[in-house]
Amino acid sequence: MRIGVLALQGSFIEHINMLEELGVTATPVYKPDELEGIDGFIIPGGESTTMLNLMHEFGIFEPLKEKARAELPVMGTCAGMLLLAKEVSNPGMETLTLIDISVKRNAFGRQIDSFEASVDIPLLGKEPFLAIFIRAPLIERTSPDVEILGRLNDGTAVAVRQERMLAVSFHPELTQDTRLHRYFLEIVADCLEEEVKSVREAAIPAD
Ligand code: GLN
Repeated sequence: MRIGVLALQGSFIEHINMLEELGVTATPVYKPDELEGIDGFIIPGGESTTMLNLMHEFGIFEPLKEKARAELPVMGTCAGMLLLAKEVSNPGMETLTLIDISVKRNAFGRQIDSFEASVDIPLLGKEPFLAIFIRAPLIERTSPDVEILGRLNDGTAVAVRQERMLAVSFHPELTQDTRLHRYFLEIVADCLEEEVKSVREAAIPAD
């Protein structure tokens, strides 16, 4: 299994280290041709406008959008979540529109800068996830097609999934907790299995 990590800006090294710790091949991705042979993709935290501009500069924005729409599972953390969202405000920006959520930048109540909070993510187990928020985006709307995986104590959604897309408003890559990355790798493995199944089925002649 090979996971590409967008390496134009932000906390990509931390994601790569965590993936390697989990025994997965992690490849830094800058250019469109590097998307070939990638089974899953991570967009790190950082500064979303800078990342967006660099994606256009390196010509990877459209190819990534196309590949993600067709087949590629993608996880976005913090700025990465902004880039996956359908709508962004404060201010608005162009995105990959891969998850049907509306997100407000730098909008975490009165907590302007950074804070840590424990987040309940039941499918990762009983132990809450100690999440680091840094000028985090706030999820203001989720479509019914979006599954909310984790919330803060006040009910704010901070971890969401829509089919093979996963997004969190915090930074799992800055902790020692690998559970969210492992969950994403499970999504990638499921997609690979589906692919093998459909190739096999296509190879069996119909009666
Ligand atoms: N506030 C940043 C943005 O708008 C995201 C912060 C982060 O990724 N830690 O891009």
